[in-house]
Amino acid sequence: MSDDNVMYDSPLEFMNDAASSEECVAQSAIPVGDAYVCACVCDEWQVTAASLEEGLTLAKRHAGVQDPSPA
Ligand SMILES: [Zn+2]
Repeated sequence: MSDDNVMYDSPLEFMNDAASSEECVAQSAIPVGDAYVCACVCDEWQVTAASLEEGLTLAKRHAGVQDPSPA
């Protein structure tokens, strides 16, 4: 028996933990009609954007990513 196994008990548990992560590591933008529904893996953020570009901008802002584009 080894005591150094502090990993998750099962892959399923890992997936559940990843799905409920509070880390805003990924956002999705799903086209719905003529708009885009954007959501984050933290499951606490979802918006509807008029365009993909707007959605990505909002996603970056949510995730705390600085927009490198000049002001
Ligand atoms: Zn988030």
